[in-house]
Amino acid sequence: KLHNTILELKGNIRVFCRVRPLLPADSSNGEASVISFPTSAEFLGRGINLIQNAGQKHQFVFDKMFSHESSQQEVFVEISQLVQSALDGYKVCIFAYGQTGSGKTYTMMGKTDSPEQKGLIPRSLEQIFQSSQSLSCQGWKYKMQASMLEIYNETIHDLLSTNRASGAENTNAGKNYTIKHDASGNTYVSDLTIVDVSTIKEVSSLLHQAAQSRSVGKTRMNEQSSRSHMVFTLRISGFNESTEQQVQGVLNLIDLAGSERLSKSESTGSTLRETQAINKSLSSLSDVIFSLAKKEDHVPFRNSKLTYLLQPCLGGNSKTLMFVNISPDPSSMGESLCSLRFAARVN
Ligand code: ADP
Ligand code: MG
Repeated sequence: KLHNTILELKGNIRVFCRVRPLLPADSSNGEASVISFPTSAEFLGRGINLIQNAGQKHQFVFDKMFSHESSQQEVFVEISQLVQSALDGYKVCIFAYGQTGSGKTYTMMGKTDSPEQKGLIPRSLEQIFQSSQSLSCQGWKYKMQASMLEIYNETIHDLLSTNRASGAENTNAGKNYTIKHDASGNTYVSDLTIVDVSTIKEVSSLLHQAAQSRSVGKTRMNEQSSRSHMVFTLRISGFNESTEQQVQGVLNLIDLAGSERLSKSESTGSTLRETQAINKSLSSLSDVIFSLAKKEDHVPFRNSKLTYLLQPCLGGNSKTLMFVNISPDPSSMGESLCSLRFAARVN
């Protein structure tokens, strides 16, 4: 039986799908791959087939499809224009959605110690700094500010706070991370560390600091990183000295919490509350995105910290791209189907 899920592309939210390679740790036992890519001219580079045990075939089509063979550079080429538009004053959001182990962090951050395996965040920042420099001969001066936070259990944690890097037990002591939007659509989080950055070297060291502080949290809080959303924000203010033009762009790069639904039996007490909080913010995100895609009047931004934080960057004149990351591991089949169905609805 053939199930075709071919959707018309609509709205200003784009969806790219990326399947990571099979890893030695995957449970393949030589089973045939469950994922294939259509080769017809119509779906080439956009489609994915998922074949279930019983031979049931599901087909999905996205704006772009990256197979296990796609390099970080090949993926970056497809988003570089979107990144560039933040310098032109757009609000840009790029998300990575998928179950834990599907390649979200690899896509966003990559392996920072390897030039080939660097992810979208370091590549985007390199491009932004290079372009801003070359635009200076046309009179443009830019001021860039970076911040990096984690949302865990509906609580904001500052990844750039010195408290956090030093491994302090309660990194939020005395802090009150309240999200505020001003009339011109700028977002502020009170008490959040904001760092002026003007070179790629400065940003690299911030990324390094944030990675450190994420791993500090990880040992302390039991794989917290797979259960939290990581939001990197670069605020770009541009001023042209000869034309007196002004632009305010924002680039948000987001590594979402794992989308897997933990079974109820595994979750009790604090784990259960945690699971509910994660499910709440991911389901709020999907509610917001579906509601935007359908151009509904009321968009439920206020239902979670994540959607409220990103409100100005999701609606209106903003540009949103979602990566749906997929593991080819046969044992991940069920979750992969859920992720693809979710992404197909967005798209
Ligand atoms: P997630 O952040 O979704 O939990 P990771 O990004 O940590 O998943 O990826 C899980 C593992 O797969 C890591 O070891 C990562 O290096 C590897 N991996 C993910 N995507 C790729 C890829 N496209 N190419 C090579 N290795 C990858
Ligand atoms: Mg991750």
